[in-house]
Amino acid sequence: MRLLVVEDEPDLARQLESSLKDAGYAVDVAADGEEAHFLGDTEPYDAVVLDLGLPKLDGVSVLERWRQDGKTMPVLILTARDQWNDKVAGFDAGADDYVAKPFHTEEVLARLRAILRRSAGQASAELECGPLRVDTRGARVSVDGHPVKLTSLEYRLLAYLMHHQGRVVSRTELVEHLYDQDFDRDSNTIEVFVGRLRKKLKINVIRTVRGLGYCLSPPEEDNETLTQAQ
Ligand code: CA
Repeated sequence: MRLLVVEDEPDLARQLESSLKDAGYAVDVAADGEEAHFLGDTEPYDAVVLDLGLPKLDGVSVLERWRQDGKTMPVLILTARDQWNDKVAGFDAGADDYVAKPFHTEEVLARLRAILRRSAGQASAELECGPLRVDTRGARVSVDGHPVKLTSLEYRLLAYLMHHQGRVVSRTELVEHLYDQDFDRDSNTIEVFVGRLRKKLKINVIRTVRGLGYCLSPPEEDNETLTQAQ
């Protein structure tokens, strides 16, 4: 999952960036409204943390422009405490949730997990696929109840596929959602990570759909037939 953090206070931006990276997300940071609008318009973020008081272009206007341009990524706004009108303006502009400043990072993380799973149509923080479980609260993975240890990039890859279960995800899409802007991207490395992930999980849940990408689904007979037929 790849996030955009829009915050003009450098300390707060750094703090958010490092907490979100620790939690397993790829993170880009924008320090003003114009840069934020540009990045949100051109990069496919899974969610955005958006401060409302920003230089150059305020957060509500940034959000309104994204929504007018048809951008549907979930957006968590950061508002000043007691500014109820900020929250109303933010929600009316298309925000999905808010956190009032000053906030605890844990609350931002929990609200992000919630809007990410809602946007993927998942109701629970624990994602399941047959014997495979991914607990997004602590980035824990298990198969048949046995914990599986993954690197942060392997976890990011698995979490993205789990949030998009049953859908074919292309290599390009994975590259765009797993790495931040500054990363030297190479879609061939995705194959390597998928290979490692399959080895570690030891179950057949990630299928290669030739020429299209990958599809994560429970290891069932019906699915086997479907894959072979393609
Ligand atoms: Ca601000």
